[in-house]
Amino acid sequence: MSAIDNLPPLREVIATHELNARKSLGQNFLLDLNLTSKIARQAGDLTGCDVLEIGPGPGGLTRGLLAEGARRVLAIEKDSRCIPALAEVAAAYAGRLQVIEGDALEVDPLEHLTPPIRVAANLPYNVGTELLVRWLTPQQWPPFWTSLTLMFQKEVAERIVATPGSKAYGRLAILAQWRADARIVINLPPEAFSPPPKVSSAVVHLTALEEPRFPAEPAVLSRVVAAAFNQRRKMLRASLKGVAPDIEDRLLAAGIKPTERAEQVTLEGFCALAREIKKT
Ligand code: SAM
Repeated sequence: MSAIDNLPPLREVIATHELNARKSLGQNFLLDLNLTSKIARQAGDLTGCDVLEIGPGPGGLTRGLLAEGARRVLAIEKDSRCIPALAEVAAAYAGRLQVIEGDALEVDPLEHLTPPIRVAANLPYNVGTELLVRWLTPQQWPPFWTSLTLMFQKEVAERIVATPGSKAYGRLAILAQWRADARIVINLPPEAFSPPPKVSSAVVHLTALEEPRFPAEPAVLSRVVAAAFNQRRKMLRASLKGVAPDIEDRLLAAGIKPTERAEQVTLEGFCALAREIKKT
């Protein structure tokens, strides 16, 4: 018996259902249920919340989320081999786990979820950043989620929480920090997973802000930041030349020196510049 429920240990689940890890699906499983519960606790108070989980695999994190009191978990898994294992979890937590077999990039989970909604996942690395960017750039703000608790390669996690002046600072940091609080809450060595990946990992917790930290038009901010960081070694007056006419004047009006480089500009600075560009 495992520590958190009456289901078999994850090693046994994997052996029973022959879930040998597939690299093509980014499968690095968490087998320690104490650890999956710890990650679930980082997602905040789950009582009264629906949780969207992407890539439940053999169900370690799923069980953590359910044991920590999630009202319901909706789990989207691409690997059909995992579905029978997840059905056993669903039976143990009657009425609280719904599993959809499919690609998280294609399935729209919203019709199955009731707010408040938290997202928690040990993401497949090949789709993790794309999903994060989608969740951070919805049509409407506030988004459907109140928090995201996500496993990333450490290097990606560092890009999400990066501050100006650091090498990791770029589009992902701006995108994440403009409308959310983002912090790394757990660091994990490769050995925490089976099989161990080549790199270390980290869990990032993001909480959606009610309003953006600084006003700006999303499309304009996105255009400015993309152009600035595409040529991050260039001075902004050069990298942003094609974005709007009179770029030097606009940079100055936004309080940014035209000779600065993208990585020196704060989020507040980029938002001010987006507002200056929007004026025309
Ligand atoms: N959550 C499990 C855990 O922590 O042990 C498994 C994590 S493993 C890193 C990623 C999981 O995502 C695998 O189960 C994989 O099959 C699944 N997956 C990969 N690509 C997917 C996709 N596009 N949509 C949904 N699930 C996907």
